[in-house]
Amino acid sequence: MYMDDFKQTLVSSGFKGELDDSAEAKEKYSHDASMFELRPQLVVMPRDSKDVQTIVKLVAARKKTQPDLSLTARSAGTDMAGGAINESVIVDFNKHFTKIENVTDTEAQTQPGVFYRDFEVETLKHGALMPSYPASRDLCTVGGMVANNSGGEKSLEYGKVKDFVNELKVVFADGNEYTVKPLKGAELKKKLAQTDYEGKIYKRIYDLCEAHYDEIKAAKPHVSKNSMGYTLWEVWDRETGVFDLTKLIVGSEGTLGFVTDIKYRLVPHRPHSGLLVLFLKDINDLGELIPKVLSYKPATFECFDQATLLLTIKFMPAFLKMLGLKRFIHLLFSLIPDGAQLLHGIPKMILMVEFNGETEEEVRQKVHALHKELQPLHARYEINGFEEDPTEGKSEKFWIMRRYAFQILRKKVKDKHTAPYVDDFIVRPEFLAEFIPQLRTIIKKYKLFATIQGHIGDGNFHVIPLMKIELESERAKLEPSQKEINNLVLKYEGSLSGEHNDGLVRGPWLEAQFGKKIVGLFREVKNIFDPENIFNPHKKSDADWSYSYSHIREHF
Ligand SMILES: Cc1cc2nc3c(=O)[nH]c(=O)nc-3n(C[C@H](O)[C@H](O)[C@H](O)COP(=O)(O)OP(=O)(O)OC[C@H]3O[C@@H](n4cnc5c(N)ncnc54)[C@H](O)[C@@H]3O)c2cc1C
Repeated sequence: MYMDDFKQTLVSSGFKGELDDSAEAKEKYSHDASMFELRPQLVVMPRDSKDVQTIVKLVAARKKTQPDLSLTARSAGTDMAGGAINESVIVDFNKHFTKIENVTDTEAQTQPGVFYRDFEVETLKHGALMPSYPASRDLCTVGGMVANNSGGEKSLEYGKVKDFVNELKVVFADGNEYTVKPLKGAELKKKLAQTDYEGKIYKRIYDLCEAHYDEIKAAKPHVSKNSMGYTLWEVWDRETGVFDLTKLIVGSEGTLGFVTDIKYRLVPHRPHSGLLVLFLKDINDLGELIPKVLSYKPATFECFDQATLLLTIKFMPAFLKMLGLKRFIHLLFSLIPDGAQLLHGIPKMILMVEFNGETEEEVRQKVHALHKELQPLHARYEINGFEEDPTEGKSEKFWIMRRYAFQILRKKVKDKHTAPYVDDFIVRPEFLAEFIPQLRTIIKKYKLFATIQGHIGDGNFHVIPLMKIELESERAKLEPSQKEINNLVLKYEGSLSGEHNDGLVRGPWLEAQFGKKIVGLFREVKNIFDPENIFNPHKKSDADWSYSYSHIREHF
């Protein structure tokens, strides 16, 4: 009942956006791309930052008497961990926060609800790119990317979203909007001396970073990418004197405040690229192959396995729908030569090594050099070399399989569903030859039919089983198999999430990943920003496995 009164008060407080509590809206917003289901009571679509401030202020005012009231941001809803769903109010940024402004060749300002695909069109007009886009680049938004600290195929060379955020506007729990950017020297001193709400947040986070400086620095996972926890180790650096709160907001899953504006750093777009495709017959060869490829410093180094290949072939008609007839026919024709290659036996894994450059010649030289080095091993790898622009050339089909397989599986496999619960771990590449056979043994033990894709150059894998999770017998596999796989990752000093973040599926693993002490500091961070737990409850340090487990999706 209190929701009716909440809606009325929101409107009378000047909220200009739409409110929707229809059954259809509740159904639509109760899912993201994860295996969880949480039914909201209300969906709101703020028109501007003022609207966001109004709703945060209203929730803050009522939280004491209505503790279940909360706000969870959502943009395109492609989150694979359950980060974009909740049981109270969902704040949809995708409808109205869609302006892109002030694009230059080094920086672009954008609202969070902009689809990455539209953002890239604008940056490319300036010959520039924000290179940490995810494989879901055609589906997701730039705001979801910030909240998850996304990464993707180009992260091997460039790093993650946190490395490309110059400045954010964020609505904090007091319902006011603040500019968040790196500060040093006099500017930092002034901010720390402020006695208002903002100043207190800065001072308390600064004190926390200072008091636990060495432990915080040591907590950084020993891998090239991480999306677990709060990135405390990058906030305060005594050596550079830079204090950067954007590092906490990025990757925080909207648990510390709502992002209303983003300034992204851009890099020059290198127009030419070429791909070398390797068909791997034996996974054990990875140990020798990975360091060889990495020593050539490719722009991307991606992989997908036999199961992904076979399923994408099986679901070709779905590609037709997604790509349109012209691109689909092109895809079919370009598959013919590789069909012949497949007659030699289905490869265990397909590896894609991409080089970028300013000129065709530069790319050709890079591809040739690696090709030459691997040639003597041809009998074991089978090398398929291309030196064309992958957006037009023969290599496009590999990118399509790599980027869209999960999306197709999500929609198409009729009697089973994608169950992303070990979908994003990362271990250092030097451990992969040892790690992968053990991973496969666990997958076999639980009879999981799982596709494996990922950013092999970083050691970041997306293992996505297809299951009937509505059946108790299948659901019973989740916990023990997750435990075995996650513990294996931790044994090899990995992180349970390289990109997809914690959500409902990995939040409960924060203590296993970082230990009690650091999770205690994460709780303090949450408490400093959001003491009433207004923003996205049950995520990050507020997560709890029994809550998550009791909200696994039952209806499809
Ligand atoms: C096929 C497929 C492939 C994928 N591949 C990758 C990949 O390669 N790399 C990768 O990193 N991820 C990947 N993902 C996961 C996901 O697409 C990305 O993390 C993406 O960046 C999420 O964007 P979104 O707009 O869909 O966000 P949503 O799902 O809407 O939200 C994601 C999170 O951001 C929060 N949020 C949204 N807007 C705001 C805001 N304005 N302020 C504060 N918090 C906010 C939400 O509460 C939620 O916690 C993939 C997903 C799919 C379905």
